[in-house]
Amino acid sequence: MAHPDDAEILSAGTLALLSARGWEVVIATMTPGQAGSVIWGPEEISAVRRKEAEAAAAVLNGQYYCLESEDVRIMYDTPTLMNVVTLFRKVNPALVITASPSDYMLDHEITSHLAQSACMAAVIPNIRITGTTPIARVPHLYYADAVQGKDRLGHAIQGDILVDIGSVMEIKEHMLGCHSSQREWLQKMSGVDEYIILMKNFGERNGKLAGCTYAEGYRQHLGFSYPQDDLLMAELGDLVHRRISNEYDTI
Ligand SMILES: [Zn+2]
Repeated sequence: MAHPDDAEILSAGTLALLSARGWEVVIATMTPGQAGSVIWGPEEISAVRRKEAEAAAAVLNGQYYCLESEDVRIMYDTPTLMNVVTLFRKVNPALVITASPSDYMLDHEITSHLAQSACMAAVIPNIRITGTTPIARVPHLYYADAVQGKDRLGHAIQGDILVDIGSVMEIKEHMLGCHSSQREWLQKMSGVDEYIILMKNFGERNGKLAGCTYAEGYRQHLGFSYPQDDLLMAELGDLVHRRISNEYDTI
C-alpha cells in the first residue's frame, strides 16, 4: 500500500481471516507517512508512524516493511520499482493486495502500478538486483477498493469480490486503532472518532452489497500471465461473495 494505515482501512479484515487460516501476513507501505501531521515534522511523525504500522501488523503476528518513499512523491521510476521487486523477492508472496489503480490520489495509483509491475518483474531473471533471487511464480494480485469507493471524478468503483469480514471487525478496528497519531488528529478536528467511523461505514456499505454486516471489496488482476484462479475464494470459501458489476456503476 502507499501509506501507513491504508492496509488497515482497506484490507485488515481479509488479512485477519487469512492469518486465522495460517497465512503469514506482511504489510508494506511505500512511505512512512511523512505528511501525516500538522504538529510534528516529517522525521518525527515518520518515526511514530513506522511504530504504529509495526504494532498493527503485530496484531496478526505479521511483519511490517517501509520502502521509504515520500508522501505525495511516490514515483514510478527505476529505483522505486526495484525496491518493490526486492521486497517481493524477499517475501515471495502467494497473494498480493495493493491499492486501486484508480483512486483519489496519485500516491495510491502509482503504488498500484508499482505492485502490478513488481509481481511480474520479481520472476524475471534478467531483472537483476544484487542480493536477490527471482521468485518462482507471479503472485495472485488483487486491488483493494479505492478510498471511499470512488475515483477522482467521483464515479463509484465497486469491488466484484466482496469478503465478509463481520467475524473479524473487532480485529480490524484494533489494527486501525494502532495508528493513534492519525486517529487522534482526526478526532481533534471533527470532534468524533471519524477514523473508525468512516472505516466501519464503508465496510457496512460493502456489506449491504454482499448481504452481510461488513465486507471488504476487491478486484483481481486478470491480465495475461497473471494467475487466473481466485485464490481468495479458494481460501475463504463462503465468506467471499462474487458480484457481477461494471467497472463503474452507481450504488
Ligand atoms: Zn493512503
